[in-house]
Amino acid sequence: MSKCPKCNKELSEEAKFCSECGEEITNISNKEHDSNNTKNTEPNEKNVADAKKGCLGCFGFIVIISIILAGIGSFFSNDVIKVTADEKELVKDISYSINGIGDYSFSTAKRYSVDVVVNEPVGSKELETISKIVAQKVKEEHDFNALIIGFYDYPEYINNGYTLGKATLAPEGDWSKADTVDTGQYNKMKFNYEFRDKDWANQLTKQEVRVWSAWKRLYKKVAENDISKIPDENEITNTIAERFNTTVNKVEDVLNKQIDWTYEDKK
Ligand SMILES: [Zn+2]
Repeated sequence: MSKCPKCNKELSEEAKFCSECGEEITNISNKEHDSNNTKNTEPNEKNVADAKKGCLGCFGFIVIISIILAGIGSFFSNDVIKVTADEKELVKDISYSINGIGDYSFSTAKRYSVDVVVNEPVGSKELETISKIVAQKVKEEHDFNALIIGFYDYPEYINNGYTLGKATLAPEGDWSKADTVDTGQYNKMKFNYEFRDKDWANQLTKQEVRVWSAWKRLYKKVAENDISKIPDENEITNTIAERFNTTVNKVEDVLNKQIDWTYEDKK
């Protein structure tokens, strides 16, 4: 069992995020990562704020305009999942796949999580658009109260930390507020994007991912064979080095590179 660093809920070792509060959980212990929960404000709110700034002289007038703008804003954001033609164009050549859906529903709220693997370099704008497209696809199958979309650059990383970050679509962008809206009440939800900004030159090669993945699988196997003791990591590294006909140092480099890559965020 592991515990959520934010709300202390007990979670399974395999948990990708806290089923209670939505905090991302990673089982890589030898490196602290700072989760910067920068909440993106909605463009509509920003436009209203900018409009306000633009003419401070006439306060009453501004208030009325703001109310009208907010009204228009909420009308257009009625479908928070809507993808514009420009956005469609932006991601049309990007290949990605949806790998499975997890059900974290409880009596008063439907909550799902999906893993998405993006097979090529992408930035936040592309991931935002893919999030909307994925949310639409999920919605076609099941209406929900909250959705977490986790992004990875290799399928091997699934369950080992979202390498590219995640998007949450929920009331106030907060997974733990799922039961404050009705199921399918999407106009009361918004996206909270927590993507990691990568230098794609540091991405692992396919071969490196094979080595990393073999190490992880062997570790798991050894741990399961004898649950009374913690596996000897050096022994595992030796075995993997032999298997791939390489040196212990090279295997260690790959493991470190993978951890650095998981948490890399240029922001
Ligand atoms: Zn939690």
